[in-house]
Amino acid sequence: MTRQTEMVEGSQPDRGFRPGDSTMHVAVYRGEGTVPVESFPIPALGAHDVLVEIAFCGICGTDLHSIVEASGIFGWGAPGFIGGHEWSGRIVAVGESVTSWQVGDRVTARSSECGSCPACRAGRPSICRVRVPDDGQGAFSQYMRRNEDSLVALPDGLDLRAAALTEPLAVALHAVTRSTAKKGQRVLVTGAGPIGTLTVAALHIRGIDDVTVSEPNALRRAIAEKLGAKVVSPEDLSDGSGGGAALRFDAVIETSGNPKAATAGFDCLVPGGVLVLVGVITAPANLNLLRILTDEITVTGSALYDDGGIREAVSLLADGQVPVDLLLEPGTISLHDVANACAKLASGQLAGKVMVVPS
Ligand SMILES: [Zn+2]
Ligand SMILES: [Zn+2]
Repeated sequence: MTRQTEMVEGSQPDRGFRPGDSTMHVAVYRGEGTVPVESFPIPALGAHDVLVEIAFCGICGTDLHSIVEASGIFGWGAPGFIGGHEWSGRIVAVGESVTSWQVGDRVTARSSECGSCPACRAGRPSICRVRVPDDGQGAFSQYMRRNEDSLVALPDGLDLRAAALTEPLAVALHAVTRSTAKKGQRVLVTGAGPIGTLTVAALHIRGIDDVTVSEPNALRRAIAEKLGAKVVSPEDLSDGSGGGAALRFDAVIETSGNPKAATAGFDCLVPGGVLVLVGVITAPANLNLLRILTDEITVTGSALYDDGGIREAVSLLADGQVPVDLLLEPGTISLHDVANACAKLASGQLAGKVMVVPS
């Protein structure tokens, strides 16, 4: 991340979309950590589509899995992949049948659940398997085509830079929901990357103040401390023997994607405790199944958002309940810096959420 890059806090840069424009800049993954900026045609709009000019797009851990690790899971990391799903923007063109949106409206996206399958009807859109397909193009791009039904309005008072935290905040809130943690309980968050620190903020928002974070990286530890969490080293949690942990928690939210953190967190649970996996874990973790049985421990996952979670995240951000400045890296980067920033995020040289301005 180049620190001398423009500072655009609190403002939306005017990049002057002209309806006659035919191409846009896109940062596209071409393999082995390379993400060149290429010229793509601006997508043509169907009757119910809108064209959104992306104002800000955060870099997510899943982007790192794709760009740095080329992990291939869920189809991530295939050459031609365009990342970026944590965005805010402004509508610059609307299809002929669009009546609910106008040019100039400030928006982000809601999740793409179908709304009518058994999971959706049960209030669990995060496990809907009948998702409405989107274009598959991410927001590391100047413009994005979206169906009009997929958008959520952003309130006037909400800064577009802060608004780009909507999606990861909704992820963090869902993790807290899945943990069933309540006021007065002790919660451990393993990992203080962007989702870990947002989870600390989400726990505080839900009234859970006794939060400990385990994290080896000094930059990430500093953010967790500023957020008011107690910070420990991973070695402080357990000796890896599967029992006798020094620290005990009612719930553990694993955000690092490291199987050792899942094991250590699991070993710290009190009887009846809950381990929630949020970080993308692609290797096996050693969990003492006998403890799951005898201590009635719940091990579960957290994917996507609560029912209505995107709207809740928007209103929490608009109400100023989220310590945005502590969570974001200062300044912004351009599309040209995406690969470099991903490498620095993966290696721990950058700790906060990095915001891309795709102008
Ligand atoms: Zn994300
Ligand atoms: Zn559904």
